Amino acid sequence: MKKCGKVWLAGAGPGDASLLTVKAKELLEKVDVIVYDSLISVEIMSLIPKEKECIFVGKRAGNHAVPQEGINKILLEEALKGKKVLRLKGGDPFVFGRGGEELELLVEHGIPFEIVPGITSAVAVAAYAGIPVTHRDFTSSFHVITGHARKGGVSRVDYKALVQTQGTLVFLMGISNMPDICNGLLEAGIRPDMPAAVLEKGTTSRQRTIKSDVSHLVEEAEKKQVQTPAIIVVGEVCKLEDDFAWAKKRSLGGRQFLITRPKQNSSVLAGRLRDLGAQVLEIPAISTKTIKDNMKMKEVLLTPTEKERWLVFSSPIGVDAFFEELSELGMDMRQVLQVAPCMKFAALGSATAKILKKYGWKADVVPEVFNAKCLGECLAKEASADSEIVVLRAKEGSKELIPPLQKVGLSVYDIATYETTYEVNAVLEDAVRTAFKADEIDAVTFTSASTVKGFVNAIIDVDYSKIKAVCIGQQTADAASSYGMQIMISEEASMDSMIELIEREFGA
Ligand code: SAH
Repeated sequence: MKKCGKVWLAGAGPGDASLLTVKAKELLEKVDVIVYDSLISVEIMSLIPKEKECIFVGKRAGNHAVPQEGINKILLEEALKGKKVLRLKGGDPFVFGRGGEELELLVEHGIPFEIVPGITSAVAVAAYAGIPVTHRDFTSSFHVITGHARKGGVSRVDYKALVQTQGTLVFLMGISNMPDICNGLLEAGIRPDMPAAVLEKGTTSRQRTIKSDVSHLVEEAEKKQVQTPAIIVVGEVCKLEDDFAWAKKRSLGGRQFLITRPKQNSSVLAGRLRDLGAQVLEIPAISTKTIKDNMKMKEVLLTPTEKERWLVFSSPIGVDAFFEELSELGMDMRQVLQVAPCMKFAALGSATAKILKKYGWKADVVPEVFNAKCLGECLAKEASADSEIVVLRAKEGSKELIPPLQKVGLSVYDIATYETTYEVNAVLEDAVRTAFKADEIDAVTFTSASTVKGFVNAIIDVDYSKIKAVCIGQQTADAASSYGMQIMISEEASMDSMIELIEREFGA
């Protein structure tokens, strides 16, 4: 009998990727297919592994959303194929998420499922604006109401009952119906000056608070051109926003950055920017592959010499690739040292030096400025006259490293230890392009010329001249400016220096 799959109906929270539950995050890795819609933020999408199959069922420019019955059917069909299916929904799947309807067909067909609750916008969006939905001094209940009138335009909301509770009222899906909601409340006898707020795009870098009172909220929201998604909060607790607003006050609150990085590297930069309040989209623009059976490397390393032999690394990945291949060749550093006892190391940038140190080797030369030419010049000065230089780096390394070394008569071996490939994740690419067009990305960070190449290969059809590129060194900046980007260069070749630059340029 064919194995039946399983469906996880999971909430993704209101937008900020760090509000995903641990379980939802694990499922992104574990499942075979992800069914999602427009409420899933691009930051969350950027966490979906590249190889995952994704099915978009939301509304997109020009296209209608897949109707509910269609979504139910997709979930059933994918599960019947034996797949593990993640149905990812905004907020919590059972809070106005039609989660119940999506389960009915599964139950009918005996498909196993699990529910993974999510953080609902009704509470979290208010919290990110600095509005606690309850507070002992003001209210003893809160109520979550749909502001969306059912077909035929007749609202089933009992405004009188709501006003009598004296609780905080949170309306979801209420923006297009805001005049009716406010009138309904006023007619039901709510105080006209009862504080109220519209909270737009909550928990994301574009979150906005429009504060007023029930009788002026519509006017205020129109003036500020409110956009969806947004919730409406009515109640005394809205006043607390004056003191409690916090998210926007973080140094990089309200900012969104796109980080390009080699796939293998965990992104220290992303974590640091998130700590400062920014939203971060991570696109693994390039992935690298160690070159196997590297006979050239073996031959050079095992040729005896009494002279200085320099091993030169230009990237952290280069260091990893070197040691990986050394071990694949059945060797270790003892043989390498035995034939060349005057071994020295050079590393481009502190990150490269750090990885080298992890393997137990201290770099003798680490140039201050992060570019290949500078490394070449430094080394040309440092190395003894008859040294032998072994450069271990990417197949298409910078052309500027070798000439300064040859100029002073050093013998140089340029050995490719890894190759770079450029990756495109179609779903993410689309989401990122949309974010660029909506001016929602403040800057893109590049840590090598190849991340620039990877980025322009992956993200096409955007106006690069509008992109602010935060670059780790001159060479990276040259690559970015060759595509017309506006460049900014960090003072040093380190993450700390990049963060400093970003905080200086974009911080509050
Ligand atoms: N299940 C979701 C709600 C789905 S209904 C949840 O639990 O949050 C869709 C409505 O949710 C939107 O119309 C809007 O009112 C609200 N919403 C969802 N995400 C939001 C966000 N980031 N900011 C403001 N409102 C949001």
